[in-house]
Amino acid sequence: MRRSSSLSIALLLLAASAAGAQTPAAPARLSVHWEELTAADFRDAITRAQGTCLLPIGIMEKHGPHLPIGNDLLNVRYVSLNAAQQEYAVVFPEYYFGQIFEAKHEPGTVAYSRTLQLQLLQETTDEMARNGCKKVIIVNGHGGNPNLLNFFAQSQLETPHDYVVYVQGLSRSGPGEPPHKSNRAGDQHAGESETSMSMIARPDLVHLDRAKQESGADLARVKLPNGLYTGIWWYAKFPNHYAGEGAVASRELGEFEAKTWINAIVEAIRAVKADKESLRLQNEFFERSKHPLDTPVVP
Ligand SMILES: [Zn+2]
Repeated sequence: MRRSSSLSIALLLLAASAAGAQTPAAPARLSVHWEELTAADFRDAITRAQGTCLLPIGIMEKHGPHLPIGNDLLNVRYVSLNAAQQEYAVVFPEYYFGQIFEAKHEPGTVAYSRTLQLQLLQETTDEMARNGCKKVIIVNGHGGNPNLLNFFAQSQLETPHDYVVYVQGLSRSGPGEPPHKSNRAGDQHAGESETSMSMIARPDLVHLDRAKQESGADLARVKLPNGLYTGIWWYAKFPNHYAGEGAVASRELGEFEAKTWINAIVEAIRAVKADKESLRLQNEFFERSKHPLDTPVVP
C-alpha cells in the first residue's frame, strides 16, 4: 500500500512535470479574429490592441451580373484583417446588417428595418465595449452605409458611453493610382474600381465574362437640382443595381486599391490608439449636458 502510494506520488510528479513541459506558452502571434481567440487569449488580445477593435461592415446585395452578393463584406474583411495584422487590433466577426433598402427588388438582398439596423449596431458596440473594446472603429465597405454610420456615430452623444465610436470610410483611391479605362464619374457600384478590388480579395468569385450581360449606365430618370435629395435617386439612375463597367477591371488597379485601403485602416488604427482626447471630451460633454445652465456662456 505504502509502496504503491509513494509510487503513485512519484508517477503523479512525473506526469505533472511532463505536463508542465508540454503546457503551450501563450501564442507568439495572437489571431486578429475575435472568433478564433480562446477566452484567455482574448484578454491578451484586448491588452495588445490597447482596447482598439474593428467592426467591418458589409451588406448582402446584388453586385451587377458578375460579383457575389456578399462582395462588400468579403472586401471589407480582407482589408480590415490585413490592416489589423500590420497594426494589431481585434476584428469583430462577419457583420452585414446595414442600409440597403434601394436593392430590395433584386435577388439575395437582406434589408433589415431601420430600427433594427440602429439597435443592432448599438448593442454590438455596447457588447464590444463591455468586453474591453473602448475604441471601436467601424470600417465601412458599402456605399449605402455612410449616412447610417455617421448618424450612428452622432447618436453616441444621446446618452453617456464609456467608449468611443469612430467610422472609417471607403478609401480605395489616392495619389499614384493607375489610369482607369472607364469614366471615373460613372464608376461606382460593381464598376471598374470595385471589381478590381474584388479581383484581389476573392478572385475566385469574380465572373468577368458576365460583366457585360447588363448595362451599368446612368439612366438619370429623375432630374433635381444639386442639394435636393430623395430616396429613389439611386433606383432612378441604376435600376439594375449596377453602376459602371466591371468588364474593364484589372488586377493592377485592384492591387493599388487594396494597398491604399489597407494603409488607410492602418493609419486609422494608429491614430485611434494615440487619441486620448475623444473620450475625455465625451466625458466632459456628458457631465456638462446634465446641467446645461451651468455651462459658461459669453454674455
Ligand atoms: Zn459594393
